[in-house]
Amino acid sequence: MPDLRFRPEPAQHTEIPRPKRSEGQWGLGYTEPLNKNEQSKKDDDPLNVRNRILGIYSKRGFDSIDPADLRGRFRWMGLYTQRAPGFDGGKTAMLEEEELDDRFFMMRVRTDGQVLDADALRALGEVSTTYARNTADITDRNNIQYHWVAIESVPAIWERLEAVGLSTLEACGDGPRPFLGSPVAGIAKDEIIDGSPALAEIKRRALDNPAYSNLPRKFKTALTGHPSHDVAPEINDVSFVGTVHPEHGPGFDLWVGGGLSTNPMLAHQLGVWIPLDEVADAWEGVAGIFRDYGYRRLRSKARLKFLLADWGKEKFREVLENEYLHRTLVDNPSPAAPAVQGDHIGIHEQKDGRFYVGAAPVVGRVDGTTLAALGDLVERYDATGVRLTAYQKLVVIGVAADDTEAFADDLEKIGLTARPSGWRRATMACTGIEFCKLAIVDTKERARNLVTELEKRFPDLDTTISINVNGCPNACARTQVADIGLKGQLVLDDEGNQVEGFQVHLGGALGMTPALGRKLRAHKVTSAGLDDYVTRVVEAYLADRAHGESFAAWVAR
Ligand code: SF4
Repeated sequence: MPDLRFRPEPAQHTEIPRPKRSEGQWGLGYTEPLNKNEQSKKDDDPLNVRNRILGIYSKRGFDSIDPADLRGRFRWMGLYTQRAPGFDGGKTAMLEEEELDDRFFMMRVRTDGQVLDADALRALGEVSTTYARNTADITDRNNIQYHWVAIESVPAIWERLEAVGLSTLEACGDGPRPFLGSPVAGIAKDEIIDGSPALAEIKRRALDNPAYSNLPRKFKTALTGHPSHDVAPEINDVSFVGTVHPEHGPGFDLWVGGGLSTNPMLAHQLGVWIPLDEVADAWEGVAGIFRDYGYRRLRSKARLKFLLADWGKEKFREVLENEYLHRTLVDNPSPAAPAVQGDHIGIHEQKDGRFYVGAAPVVGRVDGTTLAALGDLVERYDATGVRLTAYQKLVVIGVAADDTEAFADDLEKIGLTARPSGWRRATMACTGIEFCKLAIVDTKERARNLVTELEKRFPDLDTTISINVNGCPNACARTQVADIGLKGQLVLDDEGNQVEGFQVHLGGALGMTPALGRKLRAHKVTSAGLDDYVTRVVEAYLADRAHGESFAAWVAR
């Protein structure tokens, strides 16, 4: 039986009809597993796999791993098998996922918006160089992602990470995925409210807690008190966004049900005001609704957005207030769209007179050597540390006013830059075929080459055009919310051969003008032809735009 200690009392104020066909909603009494994922979670709390990794698998090796753990519960420890080399994108569709399994793992380390000091950066670097063949990617969910990790190395990696306050716990799987926090929380001059204590409290309550270790599917959280909405709140399952109530002062609005992938939906804004010390309660309420009423029959419908689509935000709020919070939320208009984009690249003054420096790797790709060198720089300049951003970038906090230019120069020497081109600044790429078993096309290397080429072709572009490169429809690098969103798939070349390519979405955005990009069926491009395709689109925009018109506005005309 699933752990039902946390089921709500029967609804007292809200009529929720029991559907004739079970969608696996625990709160309506449908507790029998309806697919193999649900069965696996019922058979054993996925959090228990940690002890088996430590006690058995890391000692006896890869072949000792129970397949149900390998392809299921390992994810709760931030571990996925990576893609075995030698399978092209065409094979992805023809083979079962397990047939693509390598004997090495991808490992995600969650940072949850926390500041990484010099020791933490050096530990992250050392793990990479010692155990992960010097791989390390900054993901768009505040993670460091390693590859080539052997099961035998996992206990030593965990020990090294835990010594600096980091973990891989629930970095994947059907639970509270890594939290996105504002990179400038507590330091930005224009901050509405510092949400760090609330995020820390959510983390304390959410992780390693069986109440939230068996959710219907992944559950993504974002929290920011910065007016730029710098954590992609529109596309998280639950987001807290800084706002001001005319009487009560700063607090947070609650946004729910955002998500991309194959049925993209921007979050519903509830239009409420939640004080800092009640944010964690609201998080538990939303997570509880998802756990109890989320659909568990089909994996493809098991995200919170599908429940929101059926319930609507009024009913969602009613259930949240009546069954979970047992109080009424305060009404307050949702915050206006931000006036500035929130990637925090460049040099900016903090409210304490020191400076933060936002820097860009190319599409999030760094390595262990770079992370360790960054740790040394942080120490040498007596900076506070580093936070990761929701855009595969990083922000160094607490640089002295007189040191900013020298610090930026030293960042350049280790392959990071606080003065990136617009292309480097606004391009992201998911993991892709290099390591991801679901990928159809290469992404990281393709995007890197695209950035290099566009820097040559448009060196002085006076605006920023975002490009998100994805290896399959899952949209981990947010296909639908970029100016130019690319979804990996096989396409036909001029000779009629199936080759790697992309379906194009145009005109999506987060932040200032949030919108889902338009999928243009006729706009399919081969990977080889991508540079020229983007060039044609950009040239058409530059030739046709009105004064000050953004790319997204031009597409929407
Ligand atoms: Fe893998 Fe697809 Fe996600 Fe890219 S979008 S990381 S290819 S699942």
